[in-house]
Amino acid sequence: MIAPRMTATLAQRLLDGDRRALARAITLVEDDRPEGWELVREVYPHTGKAAVYGFTGPPGVGKSTLIGALTKARREAGRSVGVLSIDPSSPFTQGALLGDRIRLTEHFLDRGVFIRSMANRGALGGLSEAALQAALLLDAAGREDVFVETVGVGQAEIDIIDHADTIVLVLMPGSGDSIQALKAGVMEIPDIIVINKADHPLTDTMVREIRGVLSLANLDSDDAHAHSSGAQAAPKAKRWRVPIVKTEAAHGKGIDELVAQLDAHRAHILGEGTLQERRGRNLRNEVLAIATARMRRRLEDELREDAEFARLLDEVVERRLDPASAATTLLERHRG
Ligand code: GDP
Repeated sequence: MIAPRMTATLAQRLLDGDRRALARAITLVEDDRPEGWELVREVYPHTGKAAVYGFTGPPGVGKSTLIGALTKARREAGRSVGVLSIDPSSPFTQGALLGDRIRLTEHFLDRGVFIRSMANRGALGGLSEAALQAALLLDAAGREDVFVETVGVGQAEIDIIDHADTIVLVLMPGSGDSIQALKAGVMEIPDIIVINKADHPLTDTMVREIRGVLSLANLDSDDAHAHSSGAQAAPKAKRWRVPIVKTEAAHGKGIDELVAQLDAHRAHILGEGTLQERRGRNLRNEVLAIATARMRRRLEDELREDAEFARLLDEVVERRLDPASAATTLLERHRG
C-alpha cells in the first residue's frame, strides 16, 4: 500500500511531467489498484488539455507505423507526445508487444515521447476503463498530443477509441471486411479514413468503394460539398466532411496530408463547439460504464451466498420460471 502522502507526491511528480511517475501511475490503473483511482481523482482537474487522437483498424494495416510517422512530425513541431497501444486480443506480455508491434523504436530515447502498451488483464470492463484512465494520466502529465491505437473494428471492449477527440480509421487496399462493417453500420463512421500502403494497385478501387459508403451516409467529401454547400453556404454549423487520406507510412508518404487533416478536424470541432459536446457525451458514457460495472460487481458479491437467489436460479434451471421473471424478482427484492 502506498501511504496518502506518497500518493500526493506521485500526483505532483506526474503533474510535473515526470516519466517514471507516469509509468508507475499507469501501472496502478492498469492493475485496478485503489491508489490508481485515487491518483486520477487528484489530477483530473488538470486534464482536458491534450488533443486525443484514436486510431483503429485491422491488424497489420500500418497503424503503429503511421503513429510513428505522426509522432516524428509532432516532435518536429515541438509538441510532446504520448502513445497508448491497446491490444485486447494479445496474449503477449508488454515487452513482446512493444518489441513486436510498435514501430516506434526511433522514439524510445526521446524524452518528449512516452509510449505504453496495454493488454487485457481480464478484469470486468477492465481494459477500456484502464485505457481511459491512462489517457487521462498522459493528459495530466502534460502530453500535448495523445495517440491511442487499438486493434480491431467495432468491438465493444475497445470503446476507448470513442473517447478520442478525433477518430481515424486505418485501412489498406483489400480490407473489404471493414468496408462491409461501415456499410452495415456495425462500425461508426470515423472522422478521417486513411488508406495506408497506398502503393498497392487496388488503392483507387478502395477509395471509390469508401466514397460510396460515405455518400450513402451523406458524408462524402466531394458529394456533400457539391450538393449542400456551394459558394455561399448558409452560416449554420458546418458539417465535417470525412476525408480519405492515402498514405505510405513506411515511406513517410502522405503524412503531411494526414497531419493537415488532423489539424483541420481539430480546428473544426473547436470552431463548431462539437469538441465539448463530444467530450460531454463520452464522459456521460464513461460515468455510466463505471457505475454499471460497479453495480454488477456489487450484485454478484451480494448474491454469492444468497440462498433465495440460489432457489430462484434452480427454478429457472428447472424451467418453472423464465430468466426475465427471475431478474424482475431479483431487482424488486433489491430495490429497498
Ligand atoms: P498495425 O498492426 O496496424 O499497427 O501495423 P504495423 O504498423 O505494425 O505494420 C504492419 C506491417 O506493414 C509492417 O511490416 C510495416 O512495416 C508494414 N507497412 C506499414 N506501412 C506500410 C506501407 O505504407 N507500405 C508497405 N508496403 N508496408 C507498410
